Amino acid sequence: MLSDPNTIKPGAGPVRVRRPAFWTLAMRCTQIAALVDIAFFILFLALDSPVLAWVNVVSVGMYVGAYYALKTRRNRLAVWLFWTEVLAHAALGITMIGWGSGFHYYLLLFIPAICLSAPRKWVFPGLCALWAYYVALDVLMWSIEPLQPIPQTALYVVHLFNLTVVFAMFSYLSVFYLGVVIATQRKLQAVAITDVLTGLLNRRQMQYLLDQEVERFKRSGQPMGLMLLDLDHFKQINDTYGHDMGDKVLQEFAVVLNEQFRSQDLVARWGGEEFLVAMPNSTGADVVRAAERVCQATAGRDWSEWMGEGRNVTVSIGVSEIKAGDDAAQALSRADEALYQSKASGRNCVTELKVGSNSGSNKKHSVSC
Ligand code: GH3
Ligand code: MG
Ligand code: MG
Repeated sequence: MLSDPNTIKPGAGPVRVRRPAFWTLAMRCTQIAALVDIAFFILFLALDSPVLAWVNVVSVGMYVGAYYALKTRRNRLAVWLFWTEVLAHAALGITMIGWGSGFHYYLLLFIPAICLSAPRKWVFPGLCALWAYYVALDVLMWSIEPLQPIPQTALYVVHLFNLTVVFAMFSYLSVFYLGVVIATQRKLQAVAITDVLTGLLNRRQMQYLLDQEVERFKRSGQPMGLMLLDLDHFKQINDTYGHDMGDKVLQEFAVVLNEQFRSQDLVARWGGEEFLVAMPNSTGADVVRAAERVCQATAGRDWSEWMGEGRNVTVSIGVSEIKAGDDAAQALSRADEALYQSKASGRNCVTELKVGSNSGSNKKHSVSC
């Protein structure tokens, strides 16, 4: 039915793209087509057209062959069988019983198939060739009489049957491709917003959501807090145990974070070994309490699986609450300053930086884990 879509060349060079869903669809199409041809076999026997009836037996054989070729991953053979069957069957049906049989409708199914699955450079020539074949059959049937005409009513039954099958197949293919497009969009969206190592939100998505949360805060006045977290002496962990182990520690720390926060909290990897959490409907005091829990959960975790007995991981945290007149960057910068103070205070601790009542000066409130 279709040319081999496994190889595409998008600019930079050949890239092999596997499309299991496409080949599953192709297998389903061979099954449907074989069933349609079995129905034709019975129909043409009933209409006393044995030649056309036996043509359908050959067709069923070709579809069975295409099905097993697909099953054994000989996709090219399957595609070749599919094309040959449809092109030959349409031509034979039309020349035998006439254009009114509607066998030419099947050729139209190749238009989306060519556009969606052929290598790009073959799309235009493929469509032109299909058009030429279609028009040639049309012109031929203007100039000759059908070789084995059937009664007018029978012809109309065949026509309606073909029309219905093609209608159903177009609908099925459209729904299938819509499903593929939606699933692909979802995957791309998930990839675009997720940090690949930890599965947390990535920085770009966090920035976007944070701006939204600040806007919500401005409208509703509901408190909101931020927490900036930085693993302590992480470079040492990398240097001692290797970068891969460092990655494992980052992943495990993401698990700790996921355990500690509510579903409405936004948890992101902000960069390197730095993480950012936004807690809607939470005051600075709420965020400090949550931060202390994170400190304790991190220090109390069993890290021996990655770093051997006796080694611990700790985290320093800076907290700030969004205040009237703040934008995300200002609140973030306070959390960053608070984090810096946590580091300066000896690490493994939480610092909240509050906006002072007079002229925006900052007040420090430090809590050790
Ligand atoms: P401090 O306690 O002051 O935060 O010290 P630190 O060693 O944690 O901080 P520093 O900024 O000196 O080092 C951070 C290290 O984190 C350096 C960098 O190689 C490492 N790092 C950043 N991203 C990744 C990553 O994705 N995987 C791994 N394994 N290491 C990373
Ligand atoms: Mg660090
Ligand atoms: Mg850092």
